[in-house]
Amino acid sequence: MQAFKPHLSSPAEYPYLRSDARVKLDQNESPEDLPAELKARALQRLAALPWNRYPELHAEDLRAAVARHEGWDEAGVVLSPGSNVLILALCTAARTVLDTVPSFPYYRGGAEAAGTPWRGIPLLPDFALPRAALLEALDGPPGVLFLPVPHAPTGRLFEAQDVEALAARAGERGWLLLVDEAYHDFSGTDFRGLARRSEHVAVLRTFSKAWCLGGIRAGYLLASPRVAAVARACVPPFCLPAHTAAILQTALESPGYAVALAERIRAERERLRSALERHTAWRVYPSATNFLLVRTADAAATQARLLAAGVLVRRQDRYPGMEGCLRITVGSPAEDDALVEAARGAR
Ligand SMILES: *Cc1c(COP(=O)(O)O)cnc(C)c1O
Repeated sequence: MQAFKPHLSSPAEYPYLRSDARVKLDQNESPEDLPAELKARALQRLAALPWNRYPELHAEDLRAAVARHEGWDEAGVVLSPGSNVLILALCTAARTVLDTVPSFPYYRGGAEAAGTPWRGIPLLPDFALPRAALLEALDGPPGVLFLPVPHAPTGRLFEAQDVEALAARAGERGWLLLVDEAYHDFSGTDFRGLARRSEHVAVLRTFSKAWCLGGIRAGYLLASPRVAAVARACVPPFCLPAHTAAILQTALESPGYAVALAERIRAERERLRSALERHTAWRVYPSATNFLLVRTADAAATQARLLAAGVLVRRQDRYPGMEGCLRITVGSPAEDDALVEAARGAR
């Protein structure tokens, strides 16, 4: 087959284990669904929509609602069905992609799909930010630096002053620093201020985690109008489905539920951490997210053992520096108790 660009001759698959485990702690989803009253309101909205009609070109009404919610200029908001679509859009637009290793796999996946050169800078011991090496890399030919803050899949929160130093260098050298804030609801951090001060910084957020809407697929970019226009040009027209927009409008009318959920998850994260820290064979890493990274003696065997007890967690041991690591989503108290019970005696 000669139809495709040579770099796509043997594409890598996204690492994902499908399972119908009773306790699902592998995808950093919310353990709770959208509150029933909001779901009912969203369904009414859906029923009233004309399904034969296309949605808005770039989800304009929803964009206005997100702009109001975030205190952002509408021209700088871009919506997409999942922030992964915006990651691919920015990888497509980028001359080059700079990343940390390990990191969220789709920054590299998106760069590979787009045929954009990718470079990863290893994290320092204990997953600390490689500030000096990143600053040096920013002296090279410009592109987009993807930085999840808090970091995924390590859960570590970087110092604001280090992120600001990267932003300053990005500005001097013509880069875009994309701060992926998928987990900021669980850390209480917020880089909108930095993005407001510099068009070389943009923020990516998602409805998939604290908003309890992983199945609905929606995320958004907060950027300067100029950067937003480029991202929009790399997302297909009419991309955000009308049903997604209707559900998000409902969620944005009552955003308090997401704040409350994030608070519950933060408290539950600390309870789960205390329980897992008593595990003699595991090391639990600090986390500012809705998941805990643990280092075990054998990730494959431990995952299988937990799965046999009906608990699904995510292996992270295939990434450099993460030998033995598993990622455990903070679930409901009952789910977390089931995990702790299943983990007893695991290596
Ligand atoms: C979960 C997550 C996202 C969200 O992706 P969606 O496509 O919006 O579901 C983005 N970035 C990181 C680092 C994540 O962990």
